[in-house]
Amino acid sequence: MFDYLIVGAGFAGSVLAERLASQLHKKVLIIDKRNHIGGNAYDHYNKEGILVHKYGPHIFHTNSSEVFDYLSQFTEWRPYEHRVQASVDGQLVPIPINLNTINQLYGLNLTSFEVEDFFQSRAENISPLRTSEDVVVSRVGRELYEKFFRNYTRKQWGMDPSELDKSVTSRVPVRTNRDDRYFSDTYQAMPLRGYTAMFERMLDHPNIKIMLNTDYHEILDLIPFREMIYTGPVDEYFDFKWGKLPYRSLEFKHETLDESVHQPAPVVNFPNEHPFTRITEFKYLTGQQHPKTSIVYEYPKAEGDPYYPVPKPENAALYNKYKKLADDTPGVYFVGRLATYRYYNMDQVVAQALTLFKKLSATKEKEQLL
Ligand code: FAD
Ligand code: UDP
Repeated sequence: MFDYLIVGAGFAGSVLAERLASQLHKKVLIIDKRNHIGGNAYDHYNKEGILVHKYGPHIFHTNSSEVFDYLSQFTEWRPYEHRVQASVDGQLVPIPINLNTINQLYGLNLTSFEVEDFFQSRAENISPLRTSEDVVVSRVGRELYEKFFRNYTRKQWGMDPSELDKSVTSRVPVRTNRDDRYFSDTYQAMPLRGYTAMFERMLDHPNIKIMLNTDYHEILDLIPFREMIYTGPVDEYFDFKWGKLPYRSLEFKHETLDESVHQPAPVVNFPNEHPFTRITEFKYLTGQQHPKTSIVYEYPKAEGDPYYPVPKPENAALYNKYKKLADDTPGVYFVGRLATYRYYNMDQVVAQALTLFKKLSATKEKEQLL
């Protein structure tokens, strides 16, 4: 008899497996329908020997010392600050938009103060800010919105930014200084030997059994367990009772090139050209030395593996109906990006899983007192 069946071996499932086994001495079976652990953060050496991220670029960043310290038990880190360029008007310029972006794009020589005036003279007064269009247009005006955000977002999400919650484009800041880092979090680093090596260490415990290539439906009636932790899509768990929750998908096209460097930045975004959104060159992320280089193109798709919940009001309303079902399902805990329909980064999923673990430990303590 397992104490827990954990469905999904990504961050959500693996953090809980590790905590429950090592701290509460629970017997855990963690399963995944894929043939590997790590969920979407899975990385591996391709046939040329280059470390690549199978499901697109994963860059770790967090402001939470709790999350960083927790993961540091399972990996050493390689300091890494991510940088992205966007191909706009025939030039490669830094994104998030910063002072250098504006000076380079318009052939100007503005200072930080002047660029703030530049933004303000173009910004539109919009109140309240509701959509992903509002956030950008109210900060930098319509022209920069059109150059950097409108078409990228239409490609990525299959809808206009005016239809998407403001939280989506709010992920990308606007700066008046020359800081060209993609993130400004306190901790920015990559697992030194990769994500999969980190997951292997998390799951390396005598109380944890791993079963891959297995959909949980296949074993529900065969393997006894007390409680379940579910990290797959929440609508699927309830057989789409209230209809399908929209998730955006991607197709990844991986290539290895016979050159040591392909592009001048780790990621290049293409808002206005090509059917793909961005190209990532992995050696920048991993620091690997190799005479060849591996890149990945991301082609957004409506159908396929669910990667992104789509933040907009009607989807939040539909999710709330599923959340109610989830809350009323005793013995099953829903956690992670797909099961709680949240556009969460890795660190947020780790934090969410640690919070659930604390709740489960508190329940156990209460039971022991009774
Ligand atoms: P997942 O990693 O999706 O794990 C869920 C697992 O459940 C999957 O492995 C799936 O196979 C399994 N599963 C589902 N249904 C079943 C079933 N019926 N039976 C058995 N198994 C099942 N975050 C960052 O912090 N930085 C980044 O740079 C970053 N880049 C990203 C780029 C892309 C293209 C994508 C898609 C995401 C990115 N993220 C990034 C987000 C990050 O991937 C997630 O926050 C994190 O991996 C989510 O972990 P999870 O455990 O919730 O879900
Ligand atoms: N975005 C954009 N242009 C860019 C970069 C981002 O329009 O050059 C918008 C787009 O809607 C994207 C969102 O901002 O989906 C969030 O960007 P982020 O890089 O965080 O996306 P992720 O890495 O999660 O795919």
